[in-house]
Amino acid sequence: MIMKKYSIFSLLRNSMSYHENWQKNWRSPDPKSEYDVIIVGGGGHGLATAYYLAKECGITNVAVIEKGWIGGGNTGRNTTIVRSNYLWDESAAIYEHAMKLWEGLSQELNYNVMFSQRGLLHLAHNVHDLQEIGRRGNAIHFNGIDSEFLTPAQVKEMVPLINLNCRYPVLGALLQRRGGNARHDAVAWGYARAADAMGVDIIQNCEVTGFNIENGVVKGVETTRGSIKGKKVGVVTAGHSGVMAEMAGFRLPIESFPLQAMVSEPLKPCINTVIMSGAVHVYISQSDKGELVVGAGSDNFVSYSQRGSFDMIDHIISPMVELFPFTSRLRMMRQWGGIVDVTIDRSPIVSKTPVENLYFNCGWGTGGFKCTPGSGHVFAHSLANGEMHPIAQPFSMNRFNTGALIDEGAAAAVAH
Ligand SMILES: Cc1cc2nc3c(=O)[nH]c(=O)nc-3n(C[C@H](O)[C@H](O)[C@H](O)COP(=O)(O)OP(=O)(O)OC[C@H]3O[C@@H](n4cnc5c(N)ncnc54)[C@H](O)[C@@H]3O)c2cc1C
Repeated sequence: MIMKKYSIFSLLRNSMSYHENWQKNWRSPDPKSEYDVIIVGGGGHGLATAYYLAKECGITNVAVIEKGWIGGGNTGRNTTIVRSNYLWDESAAIYEHAMKLWEGLSQELNYNVMFSQRGLLHLAHNVHDLQEIGRRGNAIHFNGIDSEFLTPAQVKEMVPLINLNCRYPVLGALLQRRGGNARHDAVAWGYARAADAMGVDIIQNCEVTGFNIENGVVKGVETTRGSIKGKKVGVVTAGHSGVMAEMAGFRLPIESFPLQAMVSEPLKPCINTVIMSGAVHVYISQSDKGELVVGAGSDNFVSYSQRGSFDMIDHIISPMVELFPFTSRLRMMRQWGGIVDVTIDRSPIVSKTPVENLYFNCGWGTGGFKCTPGSGHVFAHSLANGEMHPIAQPFSMNRFNTGALIDEGAAAAVAH
């Protein structure tokens, strides 16, 4: 299919026909019997992988197999925070790789992913927080990534409505000016549209139910629409990665938890940046529609229930009201949950597996949206070359045997 380019002219032309003749963004093909690469999971990471396979590696005989609808997993459920200010060198490399791709993504995809570098503040509420942002800020700086320390007065100047003298007073903040948000659905749709235009088959409503493995080599997948052969298979199923690993005959060091978020009724512009606090534990930003998007920690128990629960309302709302008292009379509109795939060191797994030609990209937990372009990019190159991309190498599942963990959980205690 020849993809028509979006431009001011196409907008004008389509307005003449009451916007009824826009081209479909991607086809709905029947699965072929065989592909060079099968990607399981049509979230942002899977779709980005397919896009870079076609665009940069010249592999277009690719299927993305999604059990529901594309972007219906964590990609469409997250609070859209994008940043690259991680402590460890390995994390800095992959998240900054993603940040650089974000900075040109709308132009590259010819699709507005609404990437907004409105800045991101990590608040410090006690001496430990100050020491943590000091240590992390310096490490980030040495990795050539932007980071600045703000005094409480500078925080107030940037976010006038914040209550600095809350129960745990704000003592300072770490600012990444290049951090911010993007529109999550648009990221999935933009990658899908561009990948489809290069020949990638996006197959929705098709669940992978097993792997065909012969003599330790993957040969394809079993699905609810029959068997599909694949020379290589990349599994990018986030919270369900443990289930997929079990189908392939091995175990992953992953636990799956619900993570919940909420949005308020729309307001006039009032918070022009992203605020994160590990101590009172909340993160807040304002969407372009005006809603306050707010989230907190994951549920305390493992589960596959993708929905909100009553107890979490208090966990999310209390710290928000603490920091922004004006929100106490705000009406909340929606609450939901996604299933996040959490590793012990809070870093992802982008790796070969004990099964030859079967690769996994998972473990992004509560913070993988921000790495969607970077993860897809390095995973595509790894699948194409049969060797892990240098940026992906430290994220091998083997690190849980060798002990070479990348402990971002201990570093910042916040991974969103
Ligand atoms: C409430 C919440 C807030 C978050 N906030 C942030 C944030 O602010 N910033 C950030 O960076 N990250 C955040 N995250 C994490 C982020 O959303 C994820 O890490 C990221 O979106 C994972 O993308 P993905 O493409 O790997 O997974 P997903 O988008 O979940 O895609 C995986 C897909 O695999 C499909 N699938 C599963 N099993 C099968 C099967 N058997 N066959 C076929 N398909 C299958 C699923 O249907 C799903 O669509 C948040 C997550 C949640 C839930």
